[in-house]
Amino acid sequence: MLPAGWKLISTAVGRGLRKRCPHCGEGRLFSGWSFFESCSVCGLVFARNAGDTWGFTIIGDRLPIGAMVVLIYFGVVRSHPVPGLTLLVVLAALAIWTAPNRWGASIALHYLSRVYWPDPADPIPPPPATDPRP
Ligand SMILES: [Zn+2]
Repeated sequence: MLPAGWKLISTAVGRGLRKRCPHCGEGRLFSGWSFFESCSVCGLVFARNAGDTWGFTIIGDRLPIGAMVVLIYFGVVRSHPVPGLTLLVVLAALAIWTAPNRWGASIALHYLSRVYWPDPADPIPPPPATDPRP
């Protein structure tokens, strides 16, 4: 059994990956390609400052993709150009296709950092009264 903290983390990140509010799991994070400032269901402000989620986005997102591009380039493209370039194109398509999901996960990680290190100036709404979904 996972400790409560892990359940909270996996729940919030899972909700972020599904593009839902990490706090209540109901409100949507995005409208098309733009994201809402706060949850329409529980009122959680997703990013108080525009740059709040950048650190998580860069560490959890840009760096792994950059590392994969470098690995594929030096590991495959130079010895097998056609499959290597195909891999790079597939990776780029995946990176674009899953961008909102990964952005959602970054918002969830930012939310978790606010849960664990609360800031009085950055209140988190009380937990939703009913939460039928995991
Ligand atoms: Zn919410």
